[in-house]
Amino acid sequence: MQRILIVEDEHAIRGLLAFLLRPAGYEVLEADSALTAIDSVSGQRPDLVLLDRMLPDMDGLKVLKIWRTEASTSRLPVILVSARATEADRVEGLQAGADDYITKPFSRDELLARVQSLLRRTGNGSGGVPELREIGGLALDVRSLRVTVDQQPLPLGPIEFRLLNMFMSQPGRALSRQQILRQVWRANAYVDQRTVDVHIRRLRAALEPTGHHRLVQTVRGVGYRFADPHSARGARPSPSRSDSPEETPVRTS
Ligand code: CA
Repeated sequence: MQRILIVEDEHAIRGLLAFLLRPAGYEVLEADSALTAIDSVSGQRPDLVLLDRMLPDMDGLKVLKIWRTEASTSRLPVILVSARATEADRVEGLQAGADDYITKPFSRDELLARVQSLLRRTGNGSGGVPELREIGGLALDVRSLRVTVDQQPLPLGPIEFRLLNMFMSQPGRALSRQQILRQVWRANAYVDQRTVDVHIRRLRAALEPTGHHRLVQTVRGVGYRFADPHSARGARPSPSRSDSPEETPVRTS
């Protein structure tokens, strides 16, 4: 059962959130202050956090920033819940690292849709998403957030991890930079498309020592694709070739 931590100092709202989430099949944990929430997360890791922005002891954004700077919680799925509904408030929340933003008052349907959507995107959804992806010796564990190459741990930054997770969950599919932005940077679309290229370069560099960078293919005029190992062109990469692989259209010149 997936566990959701509700961080909310107002008893009535906390009770309402729990009342809506429990029948939908979630285990609900509650925290009525920032410090309780931080304690709770460090003890029993939830699958998702609903974080109120205005808490009595600390700004919710500050709690979020604390989680984002800690390696163990940097990818914790967090939805900010706030009565502050202006665009500037949302942008501020997303830039602080929130995965999504819900404004009060919210409807039951919106709450459940956003929770389910985020759990799906972070690979914790109950829709049969495998927790371990393995392609050509490269393995990514969604649960422990670890990547290994031929059983050796491969340290990756949070964005590179999300990129790799996105690629490995849909091998063979050509993805535009816009699609990659949406999937990896999630609701935070205030990122330039060139940022995608920067992080692709970083991911390739991390994969290069074992030749797995060749799995991250450039699709000319579109974006990128992760090689499908079950198709002919996606066989285990050969480390001897160091050029960046491209899907080159037939040239008639
Ligand atoms: Ca509050």
